[in-house]
Amino acid sequence: MPELPEVETIRKSLSGRICGRKILNLKLTKPKLLRGQKVVEVKSRVINSKILAVDRRAKYLILRLNKGILVLHLGMTGQIFVASEKKMENRNAFKLPDKHTHFQLELSGGKFLYFRDTRQFGRVRFLENHEEHDYFKKLGPEPLGKQFKSDYLYQSIKKRKTVLKAVLLNQKVVAGLGNIYVDEACHAAKVSPCLPGKRINLRQARSLYRAIRNVLQTAVKYRGTSISDYRDPDNNQGGYQHRLRVYGRAGQKCKRCGSIIKKGVVAQRGTHWCAVCQKQIIGGNDEIK
Ligand SMILES: [Zn+2]
Repeated sequence: MPELPEVETIRKSLSGRICGRKILNLKLTKPKLLRGQKVVEVKSRVINSKILAVDRRAKYLILRLNKGILVLHLGMTGQIFVASEKKMENRNAFKLPDKHTHFQLELSGGKFLYFRDTRQFGRVRFLENHEEHDYFKKLGPEPLGKQFKSDYLYQSIKKRKTVLKAVLLNQKVVAGLGNIYVDEACHAAKVSPCLPGKRINLRQARSLYRAIRNVLQTAVKYRGTSISDYRDPDNNQGGYQHRLRVYGRAGQKCKRCGSIIKKGVVAQRGTHWCAVCQKQIIGGNDEIK
């Protein structure tokens, strides 16, 4: 699933290429992408409007139009491509639009934006304004923003009954993290993803705070992680998959201590960690298995 660094990479790429363009047409082959919104209604609002900016909130991509916003969520396998011609000859040899392209915008200047989604967990929504969307109201702070502070993170983790992995995946606590970057951040902070949230200490929370920011900043710099479906709007892979330290490395050696990376199910998600350098230290010194 695309997480903050992947969506941010897409945002940056789109920003320079579609801003200022007018939306000439909208095609939707899977109305369920709109989750109940009417196709006719969305078309009437979106066609003929101009794209003023491309923003991101958590894992949502926001096309800011002169009237309203178009919100895209990539779900599990969503991809966004921009092409200059209708039949995009893609580097990986698939032509767009193909049978998995469920949404497309024809833009002024001969450009097309394609939303391709094989598993169809993606979403598209038109909103009159940003604030009315429940998702935005419930989201926690942006981890790379100024409102995200280490004391806030400490208090938020401590008051929850679940394990650390579940707390960090909770978009109400911090917005934009998913399975990959939670595992990477816990490893960088030397904290176990299985640690019960209420047992975290201030030192661990502070190092986790720094790790979350560092991991995300570096992943944005390397244009995201391409393990399966993620591509940027030009169909390029990201580069962070070569820098992963635990995610997808079960059975391999920890790059820090040489122990074997474990994989197990934590908070219902496949989770990777090093049991040696992420040993559960509770309350400072008490060690548990
Ligand atoms: Zn280790």
